[in-house]
Amino acid sequence: MVGRNGDPSFYQESMDSFHRAAELIRMDPRVRMELEEPDFEHIFHVTIETADRLVPLPEEERPRFADLPPSTIEAGRTLEPLATGAYVLHHGALLSADLTVRQGVIHLAGKGLYKLEPGGPRQLKAYRVQHSEARGPYKGGIRYHPDATLDLCKSLAAEMTWKTAIVEVPFGGAQGAVRLDPFAYSREEIERISLRYVYKLKQMMGPFVDIPAPDVGTNAAVMAYMMRQYTDGERDHHALRGVVTGKDVRIGGSEGRTKAAGQGVVYCLEEWARERGFDLRGARVILQGFGSVGSAAADILEALGAKIVAVQDAHGTVYREGGLDIPALLGHAQNDPANLRRTVAGFTGGTAIPRDDFWSLDADICIPAALGEVIDANIAERLRVKLVAEAANNPTKPDGDRVLQARGIELIPDVICNAGAVTVSYYEWLQNQRLERWTEAEVNARLEQAIKKNYALIRDVAKNRARRTPLYDSRPYCVGKPIDVRTAAKVVALKRIEVQYLIEGFSQ
Ligand code: NAD
Repeated sequence: MVGRNGDPSFYQESMDSFHRAAELIRMDPRVRMELEEPDFEHIFHVTIETADRLVPLPEEERPRFADLPPSTIEAGRTLEPLATGAYVLHHGALLSADLTVRQGVIHLAGKGLYKLEPGGPRQLKAYRVQHSEARGPYKGGIRYHPDATLDLCKSLAAEMTWKTAIVEVPFGGAQGAVRLDPFAYSREEIERISLRYVYKLKQMMGPFVDIPAPDVGTNAAVMAYMMRQYTDGERDHHALRGVVTGKDVRIGGSEGRTKAAGQGVVYCLEEWARERGFDLRGARVILQGFGSVGSAAADILEALGAKIVAVQDAHGTVYREGGLDIPALLGHAQNDPANLRRTVAGFTGGTAIPRDDFWSLDADICIPAALGEVIDANIAERLRVKLVAEAANNPTKPDGDRVLQARGIELIPDVICNAGAVTVSYYEWLQNQRLERWTEAEVNARLEQAIKKNYALIRDVAKNRARRTPLYDSRPYCVGKPIDVRTAAKVVALKRIEVQYLIEGFSQ
C-alpha cells in the first residue's frame, strides 16, 4: 500500500526492517505472508452525547458584546475547564447562576466573553487492529489522538507482535485508537467514549482474546472504564480483570506498571553503558515527550545521577545547562491544576528555547518519548549525541536510520527500549489470573532480567557474537555477519514467531 501522494505508507515504511530481517533469516514464505498483514482490521464508529459548552468568542465578534454585564456560574462541579480554553457545562450548571445571555453569548465574570455551544451527538472514528496471535492473545495500546489512522494502528500492532516475542511474553500484537483530541472533552465524555468503544468491541476482546493497555492520550482511568464495561454484569467478573492492563494498582493493576516503560528504557541504558564502560552518572540527556513514558524515564534517570538538560513536549521546550530539577518539573506538569495540558511549557526552573534548537543540543543521549516519525534524515544530521534510545514507538524514519548509522550514532530500537510496559502488563495479567499481588521490587527484578538479557542478546546478534551465556544463547539467532541493531531485534522476534508456526503448524 502506498500513501496518497505515492510515497510509501507509514505502515509500509515501518515494515522495512521486518522485510530485511525476513530476508536474512530466509523466513518460511507462508509465515512471512501471515505476518506481512494483520489478522484483523476493525474500523468502526463510536457515538456519544456531548454536554453544552462555553467556547471563547472569536476576537472579531467581541466589540458587539462589550457592554454585556458579567455573569457568574458556580465553578467546580458544574463548570469544567478544558485545555482548549472552553468550559463544559455540567448538568444543573445554570440553575443557581446569575446570568445574562444575549444571542447565545455570556460574559463570564473575570474570564471574558463566551458563546454557548449546544452539545449533542458526536461520531468518532475508532480502530482496533489485531496483528498476530501466533504466540498468545492479542495485546496492545489504545490511543486517543486526533491524527490516529488505520495505517498507524497497523504499524503499532505489528510492533507489538515483535515486542512481545522479544521480551518472551506469551502475547501477540494489537493496537487500537479513537480519533479525537482528549483535551477537548470532559472527564465524563472521555468515560462515555471509552465505555462505548468497549461496548462495540466486546465480542472481540477478553483476557484470552485481546487485552488493551494505555497509550498516547489514555491512562489508568480509561483502563478502569474499559474493565468495568467489559466485566459489567458478568457472573465471573473477578476472573476477567485481566481484560485490560495498566489499571490503577488499587483495582488490580500491578505495582511498577505506571513506570514500567520508563524503567525498561533505563534498564536498556544501563546495559548499553555497562558494555561501553560509560558512566550514566553525569550523562547529559535530551528528552522529547513528558507523558507517561518520558516523565518516568526522566525521573529514574535523574535519580541515577544523569542530567536531563532539555525536555520538549507538544507545547514547548525547557532547557537547563546543569540539568532540570525533574521532581519540580513533574510537579509543574502533573500536579498543577491550572496546567490543563500537562505541559512542561511555563516551567520556571529552566529557560524556554525554540523547538527546533532542541535537536542540536550537545548531549550524550537523546530519548524520543513522544510520537512517531520525528527523527528524519535532517534531524539525524543535526543530532550531537552518542545514542538514540527509542522510548516512543517508531520515532525514527528509515532515512533518519541510515543517517544515524552513517554517523556512528548508536541506537536502542523501540521494540526492546519501550518493551518494559508490555512486560509488566504481562505480570499484571498473571497477577490477575492468580489473584496475587507482587511487590514493586519483585516486578522490577523480573523486568530487569527480561529487558537486560534480551537486549544483550540483540546486541550479540548485531555483532554476530554467537555464544552461550548463563542467561541466553545467541547462537541460533546470529546470521553469520554483523547487522544493524534494529534488524537484529527483528531477527530475534521473527525467529521466535516463526518457530511457533513451524512446530505447531497452520490451522486450515
Ligand atoms: P502520553 O500521552 O502520556 O504523552 C505524550 C507526550 O508526548 C506528551 O508530553 C506530549 O506533549 C508529547 N508530544 C505530543 N506531540 C508532540 C510533538 N509534536 N512534539 C513534542 N512532543 C509531543 O503518551 P505516552 O504513553 O507517554 O507515550 C509516548 C510514546 O511511548 C508513544 O510513542 C507510545 O506509543 C509509546 N509507548 C507508550 C507506552 C505506555 O505504556 N504508555 C508503552 C510503550 C510505548
